Amino acid sequence: MEQKFITVGVMGWPVEHSRSPIIHNHWIQKYHLNGSYGLFPVAPSHLEAALRGISVLGLAGCNITIPHKVETLKLVDWVDPIATKVGAVNTVVTQPNGDLHGFNTDVYGYVQGLRDSHPDWRADAGPAVVIGAGGASRAVIVSLLEEGATEIRILNRTNVKAEELAHEFGAKIKTIKWAERNEALSGAALLVNTTNQGMHKQEALDIDLAELPKHALVSDAIYIPLETPLLAIANSRGNPTVNGLGMLINQARLSFQAWFGVMPEITPELNKKIISTF
Ligand code: NAP
Repeated sequence: MEQKFITVGVMGWPVEHSRSPIIHNHWIQKYHLNGSYGLFPVAPSHLEAALRGISVLGLAGCNITIPHKVETLKLVDWVDPIATKVGAVNTVVTQPNGDLHGFNTDVYGYVQGLRDSHPDWRADAGPAVVIGAGGASRAVIVSLLEEGATEIRILNRTNVKAEELAHEFGAKIKTIKWAERNEALSGAALLVNTTNQGMHKQEALDIDLAELPKHALVSDAIYIPLETPLLAIANSRGNPTVNGLGMLINQARLSFQAWFGVMPEITPELNKKIISTF
């Protein structure tokens, strides 16, 4: 019997820049599945109607991207506890009765991206410094806490947002003022950039790594470019580094599994396909 055709996609505004169709359609082909992944440009005022349309149209679900991740959490019928902690949904899965369940696969994506390149990495190896307090920061913080981090130092240009995160996520979170960001790196085992600084067309992140131990892992959520100025400096002083591509592809793997029932692999061929679009 032929497998049912499975339609999924990504809702965002704007959404044309998304690499998700390349990733998911690659896997659909590779695993000989019957389905398609499309782009759904949905203006914020239409989000609720678009989400309600998912089950009516027979979609297996969809990814949710900027600016809809927080609002979607309030609109789906059930939210996974990890997505509740992050406060954002990036994956919707349609249930047999038409209900919509919301998940956040960025949490898995971040930590699996680290593990793929550094299999021995441990969250409890020492203090983690997370720079930024936006959506990516929340997913990274939840990942690190779920993995057993004992101390997370948060630095954000707007300090009050870092303090809000500390209040929400508890005693393992320490906030350090932006002006003291260079000293905050002392004794750290992990440094994560979750700001947009260093991204294509943005300024480099303004930080001095002199105090960062040479063994500390330096990770950037950014994937365009693959080597941000932060990662270039870290590489040049001998720190191990991880770019944001692993997070991007690993969050997609978990969504794909939820819709198609197959946990897809990351291959050099897929990496090459994505990088060729940068
Ligand atoms: P967001 O919610 O808008 O947060 C942006 C963060 O950047 C805030 O903490 C903001 O600080 C900080 N920032 C902006 N301009 C700054 C500046 N000039 N100096 C210092 N800090 C500055 O964005 P997001 O969704 O978290 O995304 C952040 C980055 O992560 C983006 O580059 C995105 O591409 C990347 N990302 C990657 C993945 C992946 O799969 N690899 C997933 C999600 C996001 P203030 O609070 O002071 O404004």
